[in-house]
Amino acid sequence: MIKEARNKLNNVFGYEDFRPLQEDVISQVLNNEDALVIMPTGGGKSLCYQIPALLFDGLTIVVSPLISLMKDQVEQLRQYDIPAIYLNSSLTPDEYEENVAKLKRGEVKMLYLAPETLLMDSTRELLSNQQVDLFTIDEAHCISEWGHDFRPDYRQLTEVRKDFPGATCLALTATATPRVRQDIKEILKLGDSETFLASFDRDNLFLKVADKEDPVEQTLDFLYTRKKQSGIIYCFSRKQVEELYVELKKEGHSVKPYHAGLSKKLRARNQELFIRDDISIIVATIAFGMGIDKPNVRFVMHYDMPKNIESYYQQIGRAGRDGLRSDCLMLYSRSDKQKIQYFINQKEGKEKEVAEKHLKDLMNFLEHDECRRVPLMNYFGETYERDECGMCDNCLSLDAEVEDLTVHAQKFLSCIARTDQAHDAYYIADILRGSSKDKIVEKGHDELSTYNIGNEWAKEQWILLGRMLVKQGYLTQQENHGVLHLTEQAKAVLNGKENVFGALDRSDTVVGDEAIER
Ligand code: ADP
Ligand code: ZN
Repeated sequence: MIKEARNKLNNVFGYEDFRPLQEDVISQVLNNEDALVIMPTGGGKSLCYQIPALLFDGLTIVVSPLISLMKDQVEQLRQYDIPAIYLNSSLTPDEYEENVAKLKRGEVKMLYLAPETLLMDSTRELLSNQQVDLFTIDEAHCISEWGHDFRPDYRQLTEVRKDFPGATCLALTATATPRVRQDIKEILKLGDSETFLASFDRDNLFLKVADKEDPVEQTLDFLYTRKKQSGIIYCFSRKQVEELYVELKKEGHSVKPYHAGLSKKLRARNQELFIRDDISIIVATIAFGMGIDKPNVRFVMHYDMPKNIESYYQQIGRAGRDGLRSDCLMLYSRSDKQKIQYFINQKEGKEKEVAEKHLKDLMNFLEHDECRRVPLMNYFGETYERDECGMCDNCLSLDAEVEDLTVHAQKFLSCIARTDQAHDAYYIADILRGSSKDKIVEKGHDELSTYNIGNEWAKEQWILLGRMLVKQGYLTQQENHGVLHLTEQAKAVLNGKENVFGALDRSDTVVGDEAIER
């Protein structure tokens, strides 16, 4: 049987080899044994039911809550000449009737259904006359209250499953904590059938979390080391998307917005431009990304904190599908946390309890000060076998050696002194690096003795040094505007009476000079 499966893989889908776990899952299903499959987004879950569907005599049902995804998959299957249809509320009455008629005539191999459609008496009646061989539940985490996307309709699938006693049950999801996994098995009565768990580690993704201080500036900094790269920036609200879009546009970035407030046509257009690399950056709410399979997304940035680890992981998972190094940066602030907390407080009972737990897990990841892959993998029930990944901010700063930074600190501090202690770290860094921005020239700061004496470091490093000097008490920083002031301690450094030591995070600083200037 598995030989035939491989044959379909090669000849119908045109792929050379199975991805990890696909072959195991497919043999299990072909042996009519139920299974739960947990594979990260992009791991290749669809083939796990599409290939068996071709080999079974009867019908394969796929329950999915994602109407747009259903449409994409069905269209794709039709290109392979696989007779697939879907039934959901997006169809016109005529289209719906036409699909039902096809089903009755036995012309369908794969039927995609929204859960609420499946639960309708008319649908159950219709299916009672069909031989259903495979009953697939995609996005199976929706069944659990402990998941990030609980859908009460999913609960009733247990009942419907009894309609197809001869069908093998295959449940799939991209994100399931051990608790959610347990729920899925219990609720779907999967008993002790096998769970296939693919590794969630995506080792080509560089993970970084930064304090949100001046988010627009931080975004611009992040972007100008990534000119012409393709990337997604996620924001919390539509309004935020629009605002950031305008800022980036103003700076000359090749960017489009995406959120549910835009017309369907415009959304489709912007998505298309991004996919075809006609633009580099898409600024979006979480509405963006479902079903997108663009291989060369080089970065995913969270301008605002995501609401839980599942969303975060799913969103960063859109980067680096081609296996090349890609960067994930999340900006995080207390007020983002409070915003999420505010929404949680509107909830009640179990729903509130679950959301609290999700926030706590996310905070645990954010505040972790060793390798970030440890809490991340742990969240998904995996043990990260190594102590360090070398591909997260914490690993790199753990590696960073404490060094004597006195000369750099002197340059930085004296530049602050010479500009009347009236500017922030970004501005100081610009002077040190000899930027010819209007503001610098207007103020005559291009004539200072500290102008253009710091090209040995990238701008980001100078900013990091500024932060370090604040932390070590050489500088104080004004809350909102980030204006830096010298302390008494700083004078000792300037007089050469005190040395400064520290370890700088260099994870993001391996860049050429032309990249850092915008
Ligand atoms: P998931 O549903 O797990 O997010 P998909 O099933 O959509 O992932 O697969 C992601 C991408 O990987 C798709 O473009 C799919 O065609 C491709 N893919 C899946 N299996 C294989 C394979 N064995 N060889 C090559 N490409 C594959
Ligand atoms: Zn690490």
